[in-house]
Formats: sequence, structure tokens, C-alpha cells
Amino acid sequence: MSLSGKARVAGVMGWPVAHSRSPRLHGFWLREYAVDGAYVPFAVAPDQLAAALNSLRALNLAGVNLTIPHKEAAFEHVDQVSDLAAEIGAINTVTVGKDGVLHGDNTDGFGFIENIRAAATGFDFSAGPTVVLGAGGAARAVCVALLGAGAREIRLLNRTQVRAEALKDRLGQSLIVEPWLGRNSALADAYLVVNTTSLGMSGQPALDVDLDQLPTSALVNDLVYAPLETPLLASARQRGNVVVDGLGMLLHQARPGFAAWFGVEPEVTDALRAHIVSDLTD
Ligand code: NAP
Repeated sequence: MSLSGKARVAGVMGWPVAHSRSPRLHGFWLREYAVDGAYVPFAVAPDQLAAALNSLRALNLAGVNLTIPHKEAAFEHVDQVSDLAAEIGAINTVTVGKDGVLHGDNTDGFGFIENIRAAATGFDFSAGPTVVLGAGGAARAVCVALLGAGAREIRLLNRTQVRAEALKDRLGQSLIVEPWLGRNSALADAYLVVNTTSLGMSGQPALDVDLDQLPTSALVNDLVYAPLETPLLASARQRGNVVVDGLGMLLHQARPGFAAWFGVEPEVTDALRAHIVSDLTD
């Protein structure tokens, strides 16, 4: 639709930003809900982040998403931070308040939980052990979200074990660090398995894990969404596990920002998913 003089404007700041799927995603919702608004990519170099975030106030923008490399640096340049963003250590959504106050939040964990709940209605995160593979930025959001959703035992395995230990130091006793070499046996009696490593992405080797000890009742989730069906998900599906791909996390994490900026609670639908899938080339 065409914009009026009252149009709300939001966007995504990254460097580079051309790879971001967010303009396509928010653009779909803006059309779907006939919102008088726009969502645009902003290529913001790291040394311009402070100026760019300040300009949100000057331009009366609604807010922005932040992507690599701005998610951590943004803490220095916003006025308020949600408890979740502080706990995760990264900001992916900034909202400009009425008085120009910049509020930083993190919605990745919300997207992770909602993706699994949408795919497996009634899924109980407290019902058994969760195995999290990887301990990078995505794993931080996943572990915080799992704890918030009631997970009682998280087995955390990362190639570089000190990174997993640092996450445990940050988040507490419910995390149990196990050696990367023991990843096959860590799956025994698991209820949920989450791959947060970049393995399995197009152009990357597959995650090398043997699922023999994993109960077939366990749910397997991969954060990687290009390809949609990673080798991990393909082998889990083949042996009868319920599998959930990573695209839904990307779609659901966008909901809170859209609602705050444009005043409409958007839905993740098959049509939205198809719209994003049609553009997944890598
Ligand atoms: P990151 O901070 O760079 O972490 C990468 C992780 O992958 C680390 O745990 C790293 O282990 C591990 N890894 C990389 N190469 C490996 C290898 N050859 N063998 C074993 N482990 C390896 O990245 P991130 O931001 O956490 O993102 C991780 C993945 O999640 C990416 O594929 C990203 O696209 C995806 N993601 C998806 C969503 C979504 O919405 N679906 C959201 C966020 C992220 P080391 O510590 O040993 O290097």
C-alpha cells in the first residue's frame, strides 16, 4: 500500500545487511495487515552504530532489529534493556518510546520456544533432559529461553568446551557441561535435542552425531534453516523422531517487534513461511 504522512517506519541495522530476511518478512506482514508503515534495511558500519541508534529519535522512527555485528555493542547506546536481553547478552530488537527512550530487548528465545510450541502443541519443556549442541550466541538465547520455559536439565556440549563452561557459569546449575566427544551418549534419555551450531548449513559439513541412543519419543530441533531439512533432521525424521526446523524461530522472533512498532499482533502462517522459503537460496 502507499504510505501516508503518518506512516510508521522501522528497519534492520546490520553490516552487511543485504543478507537479512527481515525486510521480506516484515514486508509480508505490512501488506497482509494493510499497515501504513515501512520496514527498511539500514547498512550501518560498526563505528556508526551510536549515531544510527541516536538517529531513531531524531527521525521519530518506531524502532529497529539489530543483526551482526551490532547485537552486543548496542548495550552501550540504548537507554533501557530488558532482563532477557541482559541475561542473553545481546539485543536484537530496539523500540523507541514516546519520549524518545530507546528500549533494547531480545526476542530470539521467544522465537525458539514459540517455534517448538507451534509445531508440537502442548510440548512440556520440563518433562525431560534437553541436549543443546553448540555454545555460541544462539545457544545463549536458547538456554535462557529453555530455563524460562521450565527446563530442569540442560546438557550443553560444544567443540570448544570452555565456551560451554562460560555459559554454565553465567546461567547456573541446571546446565551440565559434557565433552563434545561424548555427544552420542549424551542423547540417551533426552527429551529434546537442539542443534545451535552452524553445522548442517549449506556450505558447512553436517553435524556428526549418531542418533542410535536417542529415544524415538524425543523432539529434534535444528536452528539452521538453510537447508530447511538438515542432515540431522533428515536422519531424526527417518528413525521416527518429531523434527522441527529452524525457520519458524526466525519467523516467530519477529512478532514482538512488529507488534510494538506497528500495533498489530502478526501471525506466522503457512503463506508467510512459503514467502520466505521461496527466497531461501543459501
Ligand atoms: P556462533 O556464535 O558463531 O556459534 C557457532 C557455534 O557453532 C559454536 O558453538 C561453534 O563451536 C559451533 N561450530 C562451528 N563450526 C563447528 C565445527 N566444525 N564443529 C563443531 N562445532 C562447530 O553462531 P550463532 O550466532 O550461535 O549461530 C549458530 C547457528 O544458528 C547458525 O547456523 C545460525 O544461522 C543459526 N541461527 C538461527 C536462528 C533462527 O532464527 N533459526 C537464530 C540464530 C542463529 P565453537 O565454539 O567450538 O567454535
